[in-house]
Amino acid sequence: MRHYRSMGEAVGAAMAHNARLAASATRPEQIGFPTVQGHCPACGRTSLFLGSGGYITCARIDCPEPDAASTLLERRNATEGAR
Ligand SMILES: [Zn+2]
Repeated sequence: MRHYRSMGEAVGAAMAHNARLAASATRPEQIGFPTVQGHCPACGRTSLFLGSGGYITCARIDCPEPDAASTLLERRNATEGAR
């Protein structure tokens, strides 16, 4: 049993597995997750997708912080709060 640090890592591993089976590039939307426009705040790549629970997650397995976009949004909410 392996524990994943984050959604991105878990999905990335799943994608890598799928890619090996299909022998072709697997995109997040092909495994049921809609892609998100924009760049990942952590790695700067356009590999964001909407994960389960509505969290924006980076699909790159080598991303230093796959949930950086969601963290950023939550932080913004927390600091700016109700105006
Ligand atoms: Zn990233």
